[in-house]
Amino acid sequence: PSPVHVIGGGLAGSEAAWQIASAGVPVVLHEMRGVPGVRTDAHHTDGLAELVCSNSFRSDDWEYNAVGLLHAEMRALDSIIMACGDAHQVPAGGALAVDREGFSQAVTARLTAHPLVTVVREEIAGLPPEEWDNVIVATGPLTSPALAEAILKTTGEESLSFFDAIAPIVHADSIDFDIAWRQSRYDKAGPGGDAAAYVNCPMDKARYDAFIDALLAGPKAEFKEWEDVPYFDGCLPIEVMAERGRETLRHGPMKPVGLTNPRDPTVKAHAIVQLRQDNALGTLFNMVGFQTKLKYGAQTEIFRMIPGLQHAQFARLGGLHRNTFLNSPKLLDRQLRLKALPRLRFAGQVTGVEGYVESAAMGLLTGRLAAAQALGRSLAPPPPETAIGALVEHITGGHLEGAKFQPMNINYGLLPPLEAPKVDAEGRKIPPKDRGRAKKRLMSVRALEALKTWRDSV
Ligand code: FAD
Repeated sequence: PSPVHVIGGGLAGSEAAWQIASAGVPVVLHEMRGVPGVRTDAHHTDGLAELVCSNSFRSDDWEYNAVGLLHAEMRALDSIIMACGDAHQVPAGGALAVDREGFSQAVTARLTAHPLVTVVREEIAGLPPEEWDNVIVATGPLTSPALAEAILKTTGEESLSFFDAIAPIVHADSIDFDIAWRQSRYDKAGPGGDAAAYVNCPMDKARYDAFIDALLAGPKAEFKEWEDVPYFDGCLPIEVMAERGRETLRHGPMKPVGLTNPRDPTVKAHAIVQLRQDNALGTLFNMVGFQTKLKYGAQTEIFRMIPGLQHAQFARLGGLHRNTFLNSPKLLDRQLRLKALPRLRFAGQVTGVEGYVESAAMGLLTGRLAAAQALGRSLAPPPPETAIGALVEHITGGHLEGAKFQPMNINYGLLPPLEAPKVDAEGRKIPPKDRGRAKKRLMSVRALEALKTWRDSV
């Protein structure tokens, strides 16, 4: 078969190259680090799969943690990132943390030693040459400007984001509906005809004042140089809005007009926090207008002050940072190919997944898809019951029509829901407080079974 070209030797590109070579297909991996004078704002070495910040792959618990489940799925699919991570583990409790130098060196050594892998140090500073008919673009959140520009020209202005302004996302089953209610402002039906698309959390004056005080006092994440984010209206962090005046939020994202609390229609709320459905399954809701630079710990504490969210479980917290990513639901097909230019497949953070492990997982899958194409075989991604399949679903299909696409870590809310079990395998009653945990385990078991069936069928 003719070679697959992989652009970017980060987490996703390294994993993709490994999977392609393991399938017996030659691969050329193009990485710009190592070329004198060429660098990114976050990488410090020339090593493949460099970890730019933390050295943690997060929880390794496959039974009760979605990223742990992703680890298990990747191990079952012969992941180089997991193999080298396991080999270079450092103690970190239940998390999988690695010696970053040893890890990156091991990935580099294994790839360079593989007879089917050629590593070329060069920047691909525009669309790849036309004779490359099977390409994976895995250039990450800091894709070089020349390539980003070329992608932008091919896909259109609306299709590539350079900053992430993220509002927190809450698991729907952790919202207290004895306090919150569903209603759209002025009962206006959305494109889907639903006039109760939003979840509303009411605040009286005292709670609003306390909330503003907490926002103003809360610790904010520092700006790093590479994070020189220009604020554009429409995605101002809420604490910046609060700094502009105590009433600003009440006239902005927390305005209470056009909404009536069904429990007491005569009482007008002083302010209302709205949440909007975030995925097609209806298991996740985002906090409208709540992009923030508050530190993670402070976010959980402060947002749980909102009535109805006192027990909120967050699928992801808010943030604002540099991140190049595609509007994948619009641009990519289920094979993760660019619809406008199908010889290009995308993988990693640039597809709108978030995190080392998620990026590597998308590299793993696209590597297998590209290898299958080179061998003239057909291959579909694993089903959405698996963590890998759920990520594919998030970036190519699980979004809601009209909703803004936001990058996402893996979490159980992306997998098709299951009823929380009331009894265990031996028929013993599970106390209500433990049922959420039991449900996670069932989802993990379902995922690994589905993944192995997929693996063994192809
Ligand atoms: P990368 O690992 O960045 O790999 C992309 C590669 O492509 C790079 O090696 C780059 O040099 C190369 N490249 C770019 N353009 C070109 C070109 N035109 N030609 C050739 N090569 C090119 N996630 C976590 O889980 N934990 C964290 O602590 C964390 N911290 C982060 C900190 C920062 C500053 C950033 C920006 C992101 C962070 N992330 C973190 C998010 C994400 O997980 C990482 O960015 C991850 O490395 C993404 O993997 P990737 O393979 O998509 O991209």
